[in-house]
Amino acid sequence: MYYISTRGGTTAADSVSGAAAIKQGLASDGGLFMPASIPAVTMDEIVEMSRMSYPERAARILGKFLDDYPTEELAAYCESAYAPERFPGGAAPLHRLNDTVSVMELWHGPTCAFKDMALQIMPKLLSGALRLTGETRRAFILVATSGDTGKAALEGYADVDQVGIMVYYPVDGVSRMQKLQMATQEGGNVNVCAIRGNFDDAQNGVKRIFSDPTAAEALAENNCFFSSANSINWGRLVPQVAYYFSAYCDLLASGEIKPGEEINVAVPTGNFGNIFAGYLAKEMGLPVKRFLCASNKNNILTDFLETGVYDRNRPFYTTMSPSMDILISSNLERLLFLKVGSEKTARYMNALSKDGRYEVDADTKAAIDADFSGYFCDEEKTAGVIRSTFDTYHYVVDPHTAVGLSAAQQYIAETGDTTKMVVDSTASPYKFASNVCRALTGEAPEDEFEALSMLSALTGTEIPLPLASLKTKEIRFDRVIDAADMRAETLAASAR
Ligand SMILES: *Cc1c(COP(=O)(O)O)cnc(C)c1O
Repeated sequence: MYYISTRGGTTAADSVSGAAAIKQGLASDGGLFMPASIPAVTMDEIVEMSRMSYPERAARILGKFLDDYPTEELAAYCESAYAPERFPGGAAPLHRLNDTVSVMELWHGPTCAFKDMALQIMPKLLSGALRLTGETRRAFILVATSGDTGKAALEGYADVDQVGIMVYYPVDGVSRMQKLQMATQEGGNVNVCAIRGNFDDAQNGVKRIFSDPTAAEALAENNCFFSSANSINWGRLVPQVAYYFSAYCDLLASGEIKPGEEINVAVPTGNFGNIFAGYLAKEMGLPVKRFLCASNKNNILTDFLETGVYDRNRPFYTTMSPSMDILISSNLERLLFLKVGSEKTARYMNALSKDGRYEVDADTKAAIDADFSGYFCDEEKTAGVIRSTFDTYHYVVDPHTAVGLSAAQQYIAETGDTTKMVVDSTASPYKFASNVCRALTGEAPEDEFEALSMLSALTGTEIPLPLASLKTKEIRFDRVIDAADMRAETLAASAR
Protein backbone atom coordinates (compact mmCIF):
# COMPACT_ATOMS: atom_id res chain seq x y z
CA MET A 1 0.00 0.00 0.00
CA TYR A 2 1.42 3.37 -0.92
CA TYR A 3 0.29 6.92 -0.23
CA ILE A 4 -0.30 9.84 -2.55
CA SER A 5 -1.21 13.51 -2.15
CA THR A 6 -4.81 14.73 -2.30
CA ARG A 7 -3.56 17.49 -4.62
CA GLY A 8 -1.96 15.20 -7.17
CA GLY A 9 1.52 16.67 -6.74
CA THR A 10 2.95 13.22 -6.10
CA THR A 11 3.27 10.72 -8.95
CA ALA A 12 3.64 6.96 -8.64
CA ALA A 13 7.42 7.48 -8.66
CA ASP A 14 7.49 9.65 -5.55
CA SER A 15 4.54 8.17 -3.70
CA VAL A 16 5.50 6.93 -0.25
CA SER A 17 5.02 4.05 2.18
CA GLY A 18 2.69 4.29 5.18
CA ALA A 19 5.69 4.79 7.48
CA ALA A 20 7.01 7.63 5.32
CA ALA A 21 3.58 9.30 5.19
CA ILE A 22 3.32 9.20 8.98
CA LYS A 23 6.84 10.54 9.41
CA GLN A 24 6.37 13.34 6.90
CA GLY A 25 2.86 14.42 7.94
CA LEU A 26 2.02 16.64 4.98
CA ALA A 27 2.68 15.85 1.29
CA SER A 28 5.30 18.01 -0.44
CA ASP A 29 2.70 19.86 -2.54
CA GLY A 30 0.78 20.93 0.58
CA GLY A 31 -1.84 18.22 0.16
CA LEU A 32 -2.73 15.45 2.60
CA PHE A 33 -1.62 11.85 2.26
CA MET A 34 -4.19 9.27 1.21
CA PRO A 35 -3.77 5.58 0.45
CA ALA A 36 -3.66 5.02 -3.32
CA SER A 37 -6.50 2.49 -2.94
CA ILE A 38 -8.96 1.70 -0.15
CA PRO A 39 -8.62 -1.82 1.30
CA ALA A 40 -11.80 -3.90 1.61
CA VAL A 41 -13.32 -5.59 4.66
CA THR A 42 -15.96 -8.29 4.03
CA MET A 43 -19.03 -8.86 6.18
CA ASP A 44 -17.62 -12.28 7.14
CA GLU A 45 -14.55 -10.55 8.45
CA ILE A 46 -16.66 -8.05 10.40
CA VAL A 47 -18.61 -10.93 11.96
CA GLU A 48 -15.27 -12.55 12.86
CA MET A 49 -14.09 -9.26 14.38
CA SER A 50 -17.20 -9.12 16.55
CA ARG A 51 -15.64 -11.92 18.63
CA MET A 52 -12.37 -9.99 19.09
CA SER A 53 -11.14 -7.57 21.75
CA TYR A 54 -10.77 -3.89 20.87
CA PRO A 55 -6.97 -4.11 20.41
CA GLU A 56 -7.42 -7.07 18.05
CA ARG A 57 -10.04 -5.24 16.02
CA ALA A 58 -7.80 -2.18 15.80
CA ALA A 59 -4.77 -4.23 14.74
CA ARG A 60 -6.82 -5.87 11.98
CA ILE A 61 -7.87 -2.51 10.52
CA LEU A 62 -4.46 -0.85 10.92
CA GLY A 63 -2.78 -3.79 9.19
CA LYS A 64 -4.85 -3.21 6.07
CA PHE A 65 -3.50 0.31 5.66
CA LEU A 66 -0.01 -0.07 7.13
CA ASP A 67 1.24 -3.24 5.45
CA ASP A 68 4.84 -2.01 5.67
CA TYR A 69 4.74 -2.53 9.47
CA PRO A 70 5.21 -6.11 10.73
CA THR A 71 1.81 -7.56 11.72
CA GLU A 72 2.96 -8.66 15.19
CA GLU A 73 4.34 -5.20 15.82
CA LEU A 74 0.98 -3.53 15.05
CA ALA A 75 -0.73 -6.06 17.32
CA ALA A 76 1.71 -5.22 20.13
CA TYR A 77 1.16 -1.46 19.62
CA CYS A 78 -2.60 -1.94 19.89
CA GLU A 79 -2.39 -4.20 22.95
CA SER A 80 -0.37 -1.64 24.87
CA ALA A 81 -2.07 1.53 23.55
CA TYR A 82 -5.58 0.29 24.40
CA ALA A 83 -4.70 -1.67 27.56
CA PRO A 84 -7.13 -1.40 30.49
CA GLU A 85 -4.57 0.65 32.48
CA ARG A 86 -4.71 3.29 29.72
CA PHE A 87 -8.47 3.00 29.09
CA PRO A 88 -9.93 1.92 32.43
CA GLY A 89 -13.51 2.34 31.18
CA GLY A 90 -12.88 0.44 27.92
CA ALA A 91 -11.53 1.72 24.59
CA ALA A 92 -14.77 2.49 22.74
CA PRO A 93 -17.73 1.04 24.68
CA LEU A 94 -21.31 1.63 23.50
CA HIS A 95 -23.87 3.07 25.90
CA ARG A 96 -27.40 2.28 24.76
CA LEU A 97 -29.73 5.27 25.19
CA ASN A 98 -32.90 3.91 23.60
CA ASP A 99 -34.07 1.53 20.86
CA THR A 100 -32.48 3.66 18.16
CA VAL A 101 -29.56 5.56 19.65
CA SER A 102 -26.35 4.25 21.19
CA VAL A 103 -23.54 6.50 22.32
CA MET A 104 -19.95 5.41 21.60
CA GLU A 105 -17.77 6.59 24.50
CA LEU A 106 -14.38 7.43 23.06
CA TRP A 107 -13.03 9.30 26.08
CA HIS A 108 -11.88 6.70 28.60
CA GLY A 109 -8.19 7.40 27.87
CA PRO A 110 -5.65 9.40 29.90
CA THR A 111 -6.79 12.88 28.77
CA CYS A 112 -10.55 12.23 28.85
CA ALA A 113 -11.18 13.10 25.17
CA PHE A 114 -11.42 10.98 22.04
CA LYS A 115 -8.06 12.22 20.77
CA ASP A 116 -6.46 9.55 22.98
CA MET A 117 -7.89 6.86 20.69
CA ALA A 118 -5.37 7.98 18.08
CA LEU A 119 -2.67 9.66 20.13
CA GLN A 120 -2.01 6.74 22.45
CA ILE A 121 -0.94 4.69 19.44
CA MET A 122 0.41 7.32 17.05
CA PRO A 123 3.76 7.76 18.90
CA LYS A 124 4.33 4.02 18.47
CA LEU A 125 3.54 4.34 14.77
CA LEU A 126 5.99 7.25 14.47
CA SER A 127 8.78 5.46 16.37
CA GLY A 128 8.20 2.47 14.11
CA ALA A 129 8.32 4.75 11.08
CA LEU A 130 11.66 6.25 12.16
CA ARG A 131 13.08 2.76 12.38
CA LEU A 132 11.50 1.44 9.18
CA THR A 133 12.79 4.40 7.17
CA GLY A 134 16.29 4.36 8.76
CA GLU A 135 15.81 7.89 10.12
CA THR A 136 18.56 9.15 12.44
CA ARG A 137 17.33 12.72 12.96
CA ARG A 138 14.94 13.69 15.75
CA ALA A 139 11.27 14.23 14.81
CA PHE A 140 10.02 17.60 16.03
CA ILE A 141 6.26 17.58 16.28
CA LEU A 142 4.41 20.80 15.83
CA VAL A 143 0.79 20.94 16.97
CA ALA A 144 -1.94 23.56 16.82
CA THR A 145 -4.75 22.66 19.16
CA SER A 146 -8.24 23.83 19.97
CA GLY A 147 -7.75 22.09 23.32
CA ASP A 148 -7.93 18.33 23.27
CA THR A 149 -5.33 17.41 20.65
CA GLY A 150 -2.62 19.33 22.48
CA LYS A 151 -2.96 17.48 25.75
CA ALA A 152 -3.47 14.10 24.09
CA ALA A 153 -0.37 14.62 21.91
CA LEU A 154 1.71 15.76 24.89
CA GLU A 155 0.58 12.73 26.88
CA GLY A 156 1.31 10.38 23.97
CA TYR A 157 4.71 11.80 23.00
CA ALA A 158 6.11 12.73 26.44
CA ASP A 159 9.59 11.23 26.81
CA VAL A 160 9.35 9.22 23.58
CA ASP A 161 12.89 8.66 22.21
CA GLN A 162 14.03 10.65 19.20
CA VAL A 163 10.98 12.94 19.37
CA GLY A 164 10.37 16.51 20.57
CA ILE A 165 6.97 18.24 20.66
CA MET A 166 5.74 21.83 20.62
CA VAL A 167 2.06 22.65 21.21
CA TYR A 168 0.34 25.97 20.45
CA TYR A 169 -3.14 26.81 21.67
CA PRO A 170 -5.32 29.96 21.38
CA VAL A 171 -4.99 31.75 24.72
CA ASP A 172 -8.73 32.38 25.16
CA GLY A 173 -9.97 29.52 23.00
CA VAL A 174 -9.69 26.53 25.33
CA SER A 175 -11.43 25.60 28.58
CA ARG A 176 -9.74 26.23 31.93
CA MET A 177 -9.36 22.52 32.46
CA GLN A 178 -7.79 22.05 29.04
CA LYS A 179 -5.33 24.89 29.74
CA LEU A 180 -4.39 23.38 33.08
CA GLN A 181 -3.92 19.94 31.54
CA MET A 182 -1.41 21.34 29.06
CA ALA A 183 0.35 23.78 31.40
CA THR A 184 1.16 20.99 33.88
CA GLN A 185 2.40 18.44 31.33
CA GLU A 186 5.44 16.51 32.47
CA GLY A 187 8.25 15.22 30.25
CA GLY A 188 11.69 16.39 29.17
CA ASN A 189 10.85 16.74 25.46
CA VAL A 190 7.60 18.78 25.68
CA ASN A 191 6.91 22.49 25.02
CA VAL A 192 3.61 24.36 25.36
CA CYS A 193 2.86 27.95 24.37
CA ALA A 194 -0.34 30.04 24.10
CA ILE A 195 -0.86 32.42 21.19
CA ARG A 196 -2.94 35.58 20.95
CA GLY A 197 -5.59 34.67 18.36
CA ASN A 198 -8.05 31.86 17.67
CA PHE A 199 -7.52 28.24 16.66
CA ASP A 200 -7.32 29.04 12.96
CA ASP A 201 -4.53 31.54 13.68
CA ALA A 202 -2.67 28.80 15.52
CA GLN A 203 -3.31 26.24 12.79
CA ASN A 204 -2.31 28.64 10.01
CA GLY A 205 0.85 29.54 11.91
CA VAL A 206 1.78 25.88 12.14
CA LYS A 207 0.98 25.28 8.47
CA ARG A 208 3.16 28.27 7.50
CA ILE A 209 6.10 26.91 9.47
CA PHE A 210 5.62 23.46 7.92
CA SER A 211 5.74 24.86 4.41
CA ASP A 212 8.64 27.29 5.04
CA PRO A 213 11.85 25.77 3.62
CA THR A 214 14.06 28.11 5.66
CA ALA A 215 12.43 26.86 8.88
CA ALA A 216 13.12 23.27 7.81
CA GLU A 217 16.75 24.18 7.08
CA ALA A 218 17.16 25.82 10.48
CA LEU A 219 15.67 22.72 12.09
CA ALA A 220 17.99 20.44 10.15
CA GLU A 221 20.92 22.28 11.72
CA ASN A 222 19.61 21.00 15.07
CA ASN A 223 19.45 17.51 13.52
CA CYS A 224 15.63 17.64 13.58
CA PHE A 225 12.83 17.49 11.04
CA PHE A 226 9.20 18.60 11.33
CA SER A 227 6.35 16.16 11.80
CA SER A 228 2.70 16.63 12.74
CA ALA A 229 0.25 15.13 15.21
CA ASN A 230 -2.88 16.93 13.93
CA SER A 231 -5.46 14.95 12.02
CA ILE A 232 -3.79 16.09 8.81
CA ASN A 233 -1.33 13.27 9.66
CA TRP A 234 -2.38 9.84 8.40
CA GLY A 235 -1.05 8.24 11.60
CA ARG A 236 -3.62 10.20 13.54
CA LEU A 237 -6.49 9.40 11.24
CA VAL A 238 -6.08 5.69 10.60
CA PRO A 239 -6.50 4.48 14.22
CA GLN A 240 -9.87 6.26 14.25
CA VAL A 241 -11.23 4.04 11.47
CA ALA A 242 -11.10 1.05 13.81
CA TYR A 243 -13.72 2.18 16.30
CA TYR A 244 -16.44 2.48 13.67
CA PHE A 245 -15.95 -1.22 12.92
CA SER A 246 -15.84 -1.87 16.64
CA ALA A 247 -19.19 -0.14 17.22
CA TYR A 248 -20.77 -2.21 14.47
CA CYS A 249 -19.23 -5.38 15.96
CA ASP A 250 -20.66 -4.52 19.38
CA LEU A 251 -24.13 -3.98 17.91
CA LEU A 252 -23.81 -7.37 16.17
CA ALA A 253 -22.61 -9.05 19.35
CA SER A 254 -25.52 -7.66 21.38
CA GLY A 255 -27.99 -8.74 18.71
CA GLU A 256 -29.18 -5.19 18.03
CA ILE A 257 -28.38 -5.54 14.34
CA LYS A 258 -27.96 -8.42 11.89
CA PRO A 259 -24.90 -8.83 9.64
CA GLY A 260 -25.17 -6.45 6.69
CA GLU A 261 -27.78 -4.20 8.34
CA GLU A 262 -27.08 -0.50 7.87
CA ILE A 263 -26.45 1.93 10.72
CA ASN A 264 -26.35 5.72 10.90
CA VAL A 265 -23.49 7.61 12.52
CA ALA A 266 -23.55 11.10 14.08
CA VAL A 267 -20.24 12.85 14.75
CA PRO A 268 -19.54 16.13 16.56
CA THR A 269 -17.20 17.66 14.03
CA GLY A 270 -14.42 20.23 13.94
CA ASN A 271 -11.52 19.40 11.64
CA PHE A 272 -13.59 16.67 9.90
CA GLY A 273 -11.06 14.02 10.96
CA ASN A 274 -13.28 11.83 13.09
CA ILE A 275 -16.22 11.79 10.68
CA PHE A 276 -13.90 11.21 7.74
CA ALA A 277 -12.44 8.15 9.49
CA GLY A 278 -16.02 6.87 9.68
CA TYR A 279 -16.50 7.49 5.99
CA LEU A 280 -13.31 5.54 5.24
CA ALA A 281 -14.80 2.63 7.19
CA LYS A 282 -17.82 2.84 4.90
CA GLU A 283 -15.61 2.88 1.80
CA MET A 284 -13.94 -0.27 3.15
CA GLY A 285 -17.29 -2.02 3.43
CA LEU A 286 -18.93 -1.04 6.72
CA PRO A 287 -22.70 -0.69 6.14
CA VAL A 288 -23.37 2.94 7.03
CA LYS A 289 -26.40 4.67 5.57
CA ARG A 290 -25.77 8.30 6.53
CA PHE A 291 -23.18 10.34 8.37
CA LEU A 292 -24.57 13.26 10.33
CA CYS A 293 -22.00 16.02 10.51
CA ALA A 294 -22.77 17.90 13.73
CA SER A 295 -21.51 21.45 14.25
CA ASN A 296 -21.89 24.04 16.98
CA LYS A 297 -22.64 27.72 16.31
CA ASN A 298 -19.57 27.74 14.01
CA ASN A 299 -21.73 26.04 11.42
CA ILE A 300 -19.59 26.42 8.31
CA LEU A 301 -19.91 22.71 7.53
CA THR A 302 -23.70 22.76 7.86
CA ASP A 303 -23.80 25.59 5.35
CA PHE A 304 -21.36 23.79 3.06
CA LEU A 305 -23.35 20.57 3.06
CA GLU A 306 -26.53 22.52 2.38
CA THR A 307 -25.30 24.93 -0.30
CA GLY A 308 -22.01 23.60 -1.69
CA VAL A 309 -20.33 26.87 -0.73
CA TYR A 310 -17.48 26.73 1.77
CA ASP A 311 -16.93 30.25 3.00
CA ARG A 312 -14.69 30.98 5.93
CA ASN A 313 -15.32 34.73 5.71
CA ARG A 314 -17.67 34.79 8.65
CA PRO A 315 -17.64 35.58 12.35
CA PHE A 316 -15.82 33.15 14.62
CA TYR A 317 -17.65 32.20 17.84
CA THR A 318 -16.14 30.91 21.05
CA THR A 319 -18.50 28.24 22.38
CA MET A 320 -18.74 25.71 25.20
CA SER A 321 -17.62 23.03 22.72
CA PRO A 322 -14.23 24.65 21.93
CA SER A 323 -12.75 21.64 20.15
CA MET A 324 -15.26 22.33 17.38
CA ASP A 325 -14.63 26.08 17.13
CA ILE A 326 -13.00 25.77 13.73
CA LEU A 327 -13.52 27.54 10.42
CA ILE A 328 -11.14 25.48 8.31
CA SER A 329 -11.92 21.77 8.47
CA SER A 330 -8.71 20.35 7.01
CA ASN A 331 -9.87 16.79 6.44
CA LEU A 332 -12.71 17.85 4.17
CA GLU A 333 -9.90 17.88 1.61
CA ARG A 334 -9.59 14.09 1.94
CA LEU A 335 -13.31 13.64 1.31
CA LEU A 336 -13.17 15.85 -1.78
CA PHE A 337 -10.23 13.80 -3.03
CA LEU A 338 -12.08 10.50 -2.63
CA LYS A 339 -15.25 11.90 -4.17
CA VAL A 340 -13.89 13.87 -7.14
CA GLY A 341 -10.12 13.30 -7.43
CA SER A 342 -7.02 15.42 -7.01
CA GLU A 343 -7.49 17.92 -9.82
CA LYS A 344 -10.72 19.44 -8.53
CA THR A 345 -9.52 19.10 -4.94
CA ALA A 346 -6.40 21.12 -5.69
CA ARG A 347 -8.53 23.77 -7.41
CA TYR A 348 -10.92 24.08 -4.43
CA MET A 349 -8.06 24.20 -1.92
CA ASN A 350 -6.24 26.90 -3.88
CA ALA A 351 -9.41 28.99 -3.92
CA LEU A 352 -9.79 28.46 -0.18
CA SER A 353 -6.31 29.70 0.59
CA LYS A 354 -6.59 32.61 -1.86
CA ASP A 355 -10.15 33.82 -1.28
CA GLY A 356 -11.15 31.98 1.88
CA ARG A 357 -13.97 30.45 -0.14
CA TYR A 358 -14.86 27.87 -2.77
CA GLU A 359 -18.02 26.52 -4.35
CA VAL A 360 -18.16 22.90 -5.46
CA ASP A 361 -19.86 21.96 -8.73
CA ALA A 362 -23.16 20.06 -8.89
CA ASP A 363 -21.51 16.62 -9.34
CA THR A 364 -19.30 17.12 -6.33
CA LYS A 365 -22.21 18.29 -4.22
CA ALA A 366 -24.33 15.31 -5.24
CA ALA A 367 -21.49 12.91 -4.41
CA ILE A 368 -21.20 14.37 -0.91
CA ASP A 369 -24.99 14.54 -0.40
CA ALA A 370 -25.12 10.78 -0.99
CA ASP A 371 -23.46 10.12 2.38
CA PHE A 372 -23.56 13.26 4.54
CA SER A 373 -26.15 15.51 6.15
CA GLY A 374 -25.22 18.56 8.21
CA TYR A 375 -26.90 19.80 11.39
CA PHE A 376 -25.91 22.42 13.91
CA CYS A 377 -26.83 23.41 17.40
CA ASP A 378 -26.44 26.78 19.15
CA GLU A 379 -25.33 27.27 22.75
CA GLU A 380 -28.80 27.31 24.26
CA LYS A 381 -29.79 24.12 22.49
CA THR A 382 -26.53 22.43 23.49
CA ALA A 383 -27.30 23.16 27.15
CA GLY A 384 -30.87 21.95 26.59
CA VAL A 385 -29.66 18.60 25.22
CA ILE A 386 -27.30 18.11 28.18
CA ARG A 387 -30.23 18.72 30.52
CA SER A 388 -32.81 16.64 28.67
CA THR A 389 -30.42 13.72 28.21
CA PHE A 390 -29.81 13.66 31.93
CA ASP A 391 -33.51 14.07 32.77
CA THR A 392 -34.63 11.35 30.35
CA TYR A 393 -31.83 8.78 30.56
CA HIS A 394 -29.89 9.73 33.70
CA TYR A 395 -26.86 9.96 31.40
CA VAL A 396 -24.43 12.90 31.42
CA VAL A 397 -22.83 14.15 28.21
CA ASP A 398 -20.26 16.85 27.54
CA PRO A 399 -21.15 19.81 25.27
CA HIS A 400 -19.47 18.29 22.17
CA THR A 401 -21.40 15.06 22.54
CA ALA A 402 -24.57 17.09 23.11
CA VAL A 403 -24.06 18.73 19.70
CA GLY A 404 -23.80 15.24 18.17
CA LEU A 405 -26.92 14.05 19.98
CA SER A 406 -28.81 17.11 18.80
CA ALA A 407 -27.91 16.27 15.19
CA ALA A 408 -29.17 12.73 15.70
CA GLN A 409 -32.41 14.03 17.22
CA GLN A 410 -32.95 16.59 14.46
CA TYR A 411 -32.36 13.93 11.80
CA ILE A 412 -34.69 11.40 13.42
CA ALA A 413 -37.43 14.01 13.91
CA GLU A 414 -37.08 15.11 10.29
CA THR A 415 -36.95 11.69 8.64
CA GLY A 416 -38.57 9.25 11.06
CA ASP A 417 -35.66 6.94 10.23
CA THR A 418 -35.36 4.21 12.89
CA THR A 419 -32.07 2.79 11.59
CA LYS A 420 -29.74 2.15 14.54
CA MET A 421 -27.77 5.30 15.23
CA VAL A 422 -24.31 5.51 16.77
CA VAL A 423 -23.46 8.93 18.23
CA ASP A 424 -19.77 9.55 18.90
CA SER A 425 -19.17 10.82 22.43
CA THR A 426 -15.91 12.72 22.16
CA ALA A 427 -15.17 13.97 25.68
CA SER A 428 -15.85 13.16 29.30
CA PRO A 429 -18.42 15.58 30.77
CA TYR A 430 -15.86 16.28 33.52
CA LYS A 431 -13.54 17.88 31.02
CA PHE A 432 -16.14 20.63 30.65
CA ALA A 433 -17.57 20.36 34.15
CA SER A 434 -18.57 23.99 34.77
CA ASN A 435 -20.52 24.24 31.52
CA VAL A 436 -22.19 20.91 32.19
CA CYS A 437 -23.11 21.99 35.75
CA ARG A 438 -24.52 25.24 34.38
CA ALA A 439 -26.56 23.36 31.79
CA LEU A 440 -27.95 21.04 34.47
CA THR A 441 -28.69 23.55 37.24
CA GLY A 442 -28.36 27.07 35.84
CA GLU A 443 -25.25 27.76 37.90
CA ALA A 444 -21.68 26.66 38.30
CA PRO A 445 -18.88 27.38 40.75
CA GLU A 446 -16.05 29.72 39.70
CA ASP A 447 -13.43 27.15 40.61
CA GLU A 448 -12.91 24.32 38.13
CA PHE A 449 -12.20 21.73 40.81
CA GLU A 450 -15.34 22.66 42.72
CA ALA A 451 -17.19 22.14 39.44
CA LEU A 452 -15.78 18.59 39.27
CA SER A 453 -17.12 17.86 42.76
CA MET A 454 -20.46 19.48 42.00
CA LEU A 455 -20.90 17.42 38.83
CA SER A 456 -20.03 14.25 40.70
CA ALA A 457 -22.57 15.04 43.42
CA LEU A 458 -25.27 15.98 40.89
CA THR A 459 -24.91 12.89 38.76
CA GLY A 460 -23.54 10.20 41.07
CA THR A 461 -20.65 9.51 38.70
CA GLU A 462 -16.93 9.43 39.50
CA ILE A 463 -14.41 12.19 38.71
CA PRO A 464 -11.80 10.75 36.32
CA LEU A 465 -8.44 10.47 38.08
CA PRO A 466 -6.40 12.33 35.41
CA LEU A 467 -8.55 15.44 36.02
CA ALA A 468 -8.79 15.16 39.82
CA SER A 469 -5.00 14.85 40.07
CA LEU A 470 -4.36 18.12 38.18
CA LYS A 471 -5.09 20.12 41.30
CA THR A 472 -1.74 19.40 42.91
CA LYS A 473 0.40 19.52 39.75
CA GLU A 474 2.96 22.28 39.18
CA ILE A 475 2.39 24.78 36.31
CA ARG A 476 5.33 24.35 33.93
CA PHE A 477 4.25 26.43 30.91
CA ASP A 478 2.68 29.91 30.97
CA ARG A 479 4.11 31.71 27.93
CA VAL A 480 1.79 33.74 25.64
CA ILE A 481 3.09 35.04 22.29
CA ASP A 482 1.82 36.64 19.06
CA ALA A 483 1.10 34.28 16.16
CA ALA A 484 3.81 36.10 14.20
CA ASP A 485 6.43 34.88 16.69
CA MET A 486 5.60 31.18 16.36
CA ARG A 487 8.44 30.48 13.95
CA ALA A 488 11.13 31.87 16.27
CA GLU A 489 9.57 30.15 19.29
CA THR A 490 9.52 26.83 17.44
CA LEU A 491 13.14 27.00 16.29
CA ALA A 492 14.29 27.92 19.79
CA ALA A 493 12.38 24.98 21.27
CA SER A 494 13.85 22.55 18.73
CA ALA A 495 17.36 23.57 19.81
CA ARG A 496 16.68 22.73 23.47
C1 LIG B 1 -11.25 17.22 18.38
C2 LIG B 1 -12.60 17.11 18.96
C3 LIG B 1 -13.74 17.13 18.15
C4 LIG B 1 -13.66 17.34 16.66
O1 LIG B 1 -13.07 16.25 15.99
P1 LIG B 1 -12.56 16.45 14.49
O2 LIG B 1 -11.86 15.18 14.17
O3 LIG B 1 -11.62 17.62 14.54
O4 LIG B 1 -13.73 16.70 13.64
C5 LIG B 1 -14.96 16.97 18.76
N1 LIG B 1 -15.08 16.83 20.10
C6 LIG B 1 -14.01 16.81 20.91
C7 LIG B 1 -14.20 16.69 22.38
C8 LIG B 1 -12.73 16.94 20.37
O5 LIG B 1 -11.67 16.92 21.20
